[in-house]
Amino acid sequence: MIAVNGNHVIEIRRHGERDYPFECCGLMLGRFEAERKVVVETYQISNAREEEAKRNRFLIRPEELMRGEKAAREKGLDVVGFYHSHPDDRAAPSRYDLEHAWPTYSYIVVSVENGEAVDLRSWEMESDRSRFNEEEILSLSPWERAGVRA
Ligand SMILES: [Zn+2]
Repeated sequence: MIAVNGNHVIEIRRHGERDYPFECCGLMLGRFEAERKVVVETYQISNAREEEAKRNRFLIRPEELMRGEKAAREKGLDVVGFYHSHPDDRAAPSRYDLEHAWPTYSYIVVSVENGEAVDLRSWEMESDRSRFNEEEILSLSPWERAGVRA
């Protein structure tokens, strides 16, 4: 399960709409808890591929990932997942995504049709890397986001 708040969802949707018809991608920074990942903030990164190849592929350059991990560490956070958009395609990971993913992380895919984000889902890889399973997105209140428990 991945816990986000409404702002994170809006940020990811907007990023996908802004980069349409190309894929956007970014990181989710937060904390690994016992039964879930908690997103504290999103971290936008550019798509590393050439213009023509940007559709339906996503790739984060190692130096961009390292920069994101450093930004997370400085805030006492971890990279808990990745997000990217599927322009005019379903909010489900492609075979390419499966081949380039790692277990443990969450993968949010936002479907952007005709420039409008229409669906957003989160996925986690099976530990044997055979497939992705959809995971529940829990929407947290701002209080929980700040680490304050009622
Ligand atoms: Zn994809």
